[in-house]
Amino acid sequence: MRQQHFLMPTLREVPADAETASHRLLLRGGYIRQLAAGVYTYLPLGQRVLRNLERIIREEMDAIGAQELLMPAMQPAPLWEQSGRYAVYGPELIRLEDRHGREFALGPTHEEVVTALIRDEIQSYRKLPLLVYQIQTKFRDERRPRFGLLRGREFLMKDAYSFAADEEQLDAIYASMTQAYNRIFTRCGLRFRAVEADSGSIGGEGGSHEFMAIADIGEDRIVTCTDCGYAANVEQADTGLPQQEKRETPEPAAEKFATPGIHTIAELEQALGVSSKQLLKTLIYEADGRAVAVLVRGDRSVNEIRLQRILHAEQIELADADTVLRLTGCPIGFVGPAGLRMPLLVDREAAAVSSAIAGSGEAGYHLRHVQPGRDFPVEHVYDLRLAAEGDRCPRCEGTLRSSRGIEVGHVFKLGTRYSAKLGASFAGASGEQRPMIMGCYGIGVSRLVSVIAEQRHEETGLLWPMAVAPFQVHVIPVSVQDEEQMLGAEALYRRLRAQGIEALLDDRQERPGMKFKDADLIGAPIRIVFGRKASEGLVEYKERQEANSLEVTVEEAYERIV
Ligand code: ATP
Ligand code: MG
Ligand code: MG
Ligand code: MG
Repeated sequence: MRQQHFLMPTLREVPADAETASHRLLLRGGYIRQLAAGVYTYLPLGQRVLRNLERIIREEMDAIGAQELLMPAMQPAPLWEQSGRYAVYGPELIRLEDRHGREFALGPTHEEVVTALIRDEIQSYRKLPLLVYQIQTKFRDERRPRFGLLRGREFLMKDAYSFAADEEQLDAIYASMTQAYNRIFTRCGLRFRAVEADSGSIGGEGGSHEFMAIADIGEDRIVTCTDCGYAANVEQADTGLPQQEKRETPEPAAEKFATPGIHTIAELEQALGVSSKQLLKTLIYEADGRAVAVLVRGDRSVNEIRLQRILHAEQIELADADTVLRLTGCPIGFVGPAGLRMPLLVDREAAAVSSAIAGSGEAGYHLRHVQPGRDFPVEHVYDLRLAAEGDRCPRCEGTLRSSRGIEVGHVFKLGTRYSAKLGASFAGASGEQRPMIMGCYGIGVSRLVSVIAEQRHEETGLLWPMAVAPFQVHVIPVSVQDEEQMLGAEALYRRLRAQGIEALLDDRQERPGMKFKDADLIGAPIRIVFGRKASEGLVEYKERQEANSLEVTVEEAYERIV
């Protein structure tokens, strides 16, 4: 590619609203431009990186026998009603209507579409297992789109779906998918680790793993045990709540439950489409730090929960426990049969009490109300404390370390949840009908661009690994008017291209300083500079990560590259 006519608008200024290094550098390097919040154009450089990532992913998916297809983004609402997700998905789902008034959703994920497809096409165990995937645009109206491509509202995902006749088939696919993910992220040059997404079933099946890229800006917190290798996403850790439910738990939906007031749990469950356990979880999620929920004995249908303020969560933004307390006066509470408000303990002061109770993990404890001095027996204790640095590992005697991570991939055993609801069954060897056993496996392809940039950059620009770089070699004649520099650069550029090496030739008539600054920003792994010594056949060879360049002959530079 010749730079003179290449659409690569680099910026000198640091964009004001870009909070992370990756976001700033992708804007400044001319990789992406924002059209709306969380909606981006991939400029030619960005598109080249995406294509490289897609190539790596396709190679690894094809290698484990996954078959590529492409499903529609526009998905009819009745399909989502069949799975039960239309009502509960919440405001993240982008809904629209066609000219006939039929409702559609823009796919945030494709379990429904793929399950319906396979239901109609596969009838016998002889055709199983089956593994399909696509690389496709997803839509999620994220509450907080941010950090460039990291959390978009329109983004590129690789999603794979497996259909198995029995658990063994599913386990085998899950294992090979996990290995493929390890290879993919290694080839992307990432520092990452697989963590348990659902560690509720400790020592259990391990039905869901997330691949976390290590980064301070990560929105997920992960704990790892140095002794036994246990690693988990803290959000998921030790809650006992299946990942499946978490995935479908809507955010506290003010608009869905418009009338503030005191409501019975049954009403809430119905209105929000979640169980009370999920409800607690949803609310507690919002409070950072340690939180413990206590359910007090009583008839659940009579218990009422005060949510009138909490339901404005989206307005007040439940950022931390202190805010919850300040705005509600009392933490979220249950109103017991006797009309007494029992708190759901969500504050630091209560933490001591809570952890004492939660630590026991047993019923039989009593909570004493401050004014009547009356005791309330505690029936259920959900320990929703978030695991933290220094905590005891749940698997061994080791100590937990805490770090931040960005979810780049997710592998997940779905079981028969979708196949049962959508009727995707097959005839077994003796003719009996059974629901297919499913798995789903996602990778945030566009997110990866930001994640790699976040892990691999310096102040002056990006440090792409070879396999991902938009150009592997940047050939720079310092002065395009100097015939020897220009001819030499052209010749090398052509030789490299003939070898299938992606090279960028800076044929612009710019000041050298400008050329080098742009080259740093773009971050091609190798740079060859034709300068004053070009007439002697000498060039500067520089690897992006190295501080110094080497003076070598053109031939030697070529040999080093190919
Ligand atoms: P997160 O926890 O970051 O919101 P998720 O668990 O909702 O992600 P999945 O439903 O597991 O995401 O989707 C598969 C993959 O798609 C994720 O592992 C992530 O890499 C990517 N992804 C999810 N949401 C976004 C987004 N808004 N922008 C870019 N990539 C995303
Ligand atoms: Mg999400
Ligand atoms: Mg997640
Ligand atoms: Mg996920």
